[in-house]
Amino acid sequence: MSRDIPFLSLREQHGPIRKQVLDAIARVYDRNWFVLGDEVTAFEKKYAKFNGVSYCATTANGLDAIYLALKALGIKKGDEVIVPSNTYIATWLGATMTGAKVVPVEPDPATYNIDPARIEQSITPFTKAILPVHLYGLACDMEAIMTVARRHNLFVVEDNAQAHGAFNNKRMTGSIGHINATSFYPGKNLGALGDGGGITTNDKELFDKVCMLRNYGSAKKYFNEEKGINSRLDEVHAAVLQVKLRELKQWTRERQSLAKRYLEALKGVGDLTLPVVPKNCTHVFHLFVMRTQRRDQLQEYLKKNGIGTMIHYPVPPHLQKAYAELPYTKGQFPLAEQIAATCLSLPLWPGMTDAMVDRVAKTITKFYERK
Ligand SMILES: *Cc1c(COP(=O)(O)O)cnc(C)c1O
Repeated sequence: MSRDIPFLSLREQHGPIRKQVLDAIARVYDRNWFVLGDEVTAFEKKYAKFNGVSYCATTANGLDAIYLALKALGIKKGDEVIVPSNTYIATWLGATMTGAKVVPVEPDPATYNIDPARIEQSITPFTKAILPVHLYGLACDMEAIMTVARRHNLFVVEDNAQAHGAFNNKRMTGSIGHINATSFYPGKNLGALGDGGGITTNDKELFDKVCMLRNYGSAKKYFNEEKGINSRLDEVHAAVLQVKLRELKQWTRERQSLAKRYLEALKGVGDLTLPVVPKNCTHVFHLFVMRTQRRDQLQEYLKKNGIGTMIHYPVPPHLQKAYAELPYTKGQFPLAEQIAATCLSLPLWPGMTDAMVDRVAKTITKFYERK
């Protein structure tokens, strides 16, 4: 009997760096300085360098990073922000937290990312920013998005929560928009041992603004320029993230190699639509998402065979109860709805073996041959 294959396991990433991680935690413990200290500053410098930007300001999580990025740009009630119809709800929440209105734009059905060709028709005199998401780890066509933004004098904020280290035309995601947001949630490609997030930018003024806003609106202790929030990355997480950042490139290569193996093994199987990587873009495979009309039966079959899968995401934001106040009904964003109805994410994580990929692929093939 072969062992179960979970949808995700962090054990294989954390095992080999156990000593370095525990040493990093001990360093913070012994220093007795836990919030906004040397570790946060050091990680911010290292992550900015990795990402090819001048500045990184960490936050408590990715949602706050999106919110604070938009806030730093001055986005507020009465403004409109263009968001993908097909994304995790946090993208929308970060925008609506500012009071702005979200204007959803449908994806390119091949890449699942916001379709640059559809953005222009959604721009109004109230539009202030475009918030593209590099969904599942595939870089958006940022060149096209930046061209539209320039033409209409709009800000661009990348939601890079799923795509640390991906590229569009030799530029890394998170370094292309005016100010960008990412997440260091444990399950992301670069994850802390709890919640974490950050913004990246080349603009010193925006960086300073986020540093102020994340710390109660205070740049100088006990002097508050604005009504900020408390959204800071803990020193412990910053120390651990420095260790994990050193591994990120290797982990990304492993993800890409496992994805390649899936792509080869599943080519032409059943009615599967497999992920595509357009020229000029790279995919860091935060998730391996495929589509099938028989999604629910396939998921059940894999579960019975000890293979974990997930759906990213079963309900698009416009159909969530949380956004019931918006004038959107079923059928409004058919591409996002179709993806939600047919997508299935397969197990994929650094340290997963080729043999596991082969077993997942073989089980899927058997499902379609079974009839
Ligand atoms: C995870 C995620 C977020 C939010 O990050 P948190 O750290 O969980 O708040 C935002 N956008 C996308 C696309 C995500 O996947």
